Order: sequence, then C-alpha cells, then structure tokens
Amino acid sequence: LVVLEGVNKHYGDLHVLKDINLTINRGEVVVILGPSGSGKSTLCRTINRLETIENGTIQIDGKELPAEGAGLAKLRADVGMVFQSFNLFAHKTILDNVTLGPIKVRKKSKGDAESRAMELLKRVGVDHQAKKFPAQLSGGQQQRVAIARSLAMEPKVMLFDEPTSALDPEMINEVLDVMAQLAKEGMTMIVVTHEMGFARRAADRVIFMADGEILEQAAPEEFFTNPKSDRAKDFLGKIL
Ligand code: ATP
Ligand code: MG
Repeated sequence: LVVLEGVNKHYGDLHVLKDINLTINRGEVVVILGPSGSGKSTLCRTINRLETIENGTIQIDGKELPAEGAGLAKLRADVGMVFQSFNLFAHKTILDNVTLGPIKVRKKSKGDAESRAMELLKRVGVDHQAKKFPAQLSGGQQQRVAIARSLAMEPKVMLFDEPTSALDPEMINEVLDVMAQLAKEGMTMIVVTHEMGFARRAADRVIFMADGEILEQAAPEEFFTNPKSDRAKDFLGKIL
C-alpha cells in the first residue's frame, strides 16, 4: 500500500534519510523505533510530503506522490497523520474539528459529515464532548479527537508520530487502546512510539532506524528478544 524506493533527504550537510526502501502492506501495523534524531519524524513527514525528498519515489496505493499540485492534496488526504501535539483548531468545537475536512476536502454534506463524526467520536469515547472546545478536554481526550478527525477523511493509511509522548501517564493507555483497536480492525498504520508494550501487542513488524537508515526489520518478538545490530542492542538496553 505504501512503497518507498531509494528515498533520500538532506538538511544542509545532514543526511537525514539514507536510501530508504520500505514496503508496507495493506492492513499492516508497523512500529518505527530508534534513537532521537534518527529520522523517524522526517520519514513520517515525507510519506505525506510535508517534507520534500531529493530523489527516490513514494507510492500510496499504486500512485506515485507528486511533488506538488492538486494531485498531491488528493493523495495526501489518503494519509492520515496524528502528531505529538494534538493540533486541533482551538476556536472550533470538537464536532466542527472532525467535520471540517470531510466537508471541505471530501465534499460531504454537513449532515452526513456530522453523523459520521458522531460515530467516530463515539468510537474513540469522546462523543459526549462534541459541543465543547479543545481546551475544555484533557490531553488524552484531545488526542482521541485528533484520531477521529483523521479517520473522518477515510484515509488508506494512518501515520502516528509519538502520539502519546505529550500526555500525562494516566492518559497514555486510553489513546493506545484506541490505536490498538484500529489496528485490530485492519487499518494500515505506521507508528513512531516509545511505548514498547504497544509495539509488542499491536505491531506486525518493527523497524529500527539509526542515523537515517533502516538497520533492522523484524517481528516484534524477534526484534525485542534477538536484536541483531549493536545500535539496536544499545537502544533496547536503554529503554527496556
Ligand atoms: P526524535 O525521537 O527526537 O523525535 P526523530 O528520529 O524523529 O527524533 P527527526 O526529527 O526526523 O528525528 O530528525 C532527524 C534529524 O534531522 C535530526 O538530526 C534533526 O535535528 C534534523 N532535523 C529535523 N528537522 C529539521 C529541519 N527542519 N531543519 C534542519 N534539521 C532538521
Ligand atoms: Mg520525532
């Protein structure tokens, strides 16, 4: 569903993505691990072209991502993204946050968008907050709204970049549970996280990045019990 071939990116002299080749199948849940600065966020942002790349290709569902233009907006709508900071529109209600994209980009009617939004808000457990504004919700609730807002666009793949790292500990699980449920329902997901419990229970594959390279790819059990590279051993030694 998502295919990256020979993707490279520099920031000035810094080679942040080094010849990345990666194929993610439909319905697959891939967790990306790696030390700070290894390029995990950059990789996520390149997948929906929030970042330009210098060479290589990125395909979503068989279509190459163009560098810009209307085709890009359309393909980008197929890629949902949830960040560390929730990025909700502060001056709009929870319901409006979720319906805005479907109305503007997917050209849905207000009624359709709202009934679908309420379904999604219910699914992530915040339907009772629909009329409130983001600041009136807890961090965990806001992040679940952000997930519902992405899902409302009917993405083919969801990217999560450290979705729980800005949350208080007691709210982390409520967000991870929503993500695990989504994974179970067959959503294709790419998740950057330091939550090893989530990686173990929800991931089909773990990817370990260091210095802009994919050093290892394995099933979670295999990666956690038998990391191959010294970098991965060192990384796991620090976090487990
Ligand atoms: P973390 O775990 O801390 O989030 P990461 O693996 O997500 O790290 P990236 O944010 O992708 O790492 O950054 C990769 C490298 O690129 C880092 O060395 C970072 O300093 C650098 N970098 C990221 N964004 C920019 C930018 N806009 N301009 C210049 N350098 C950048
Ligand atoms: Mg990052």
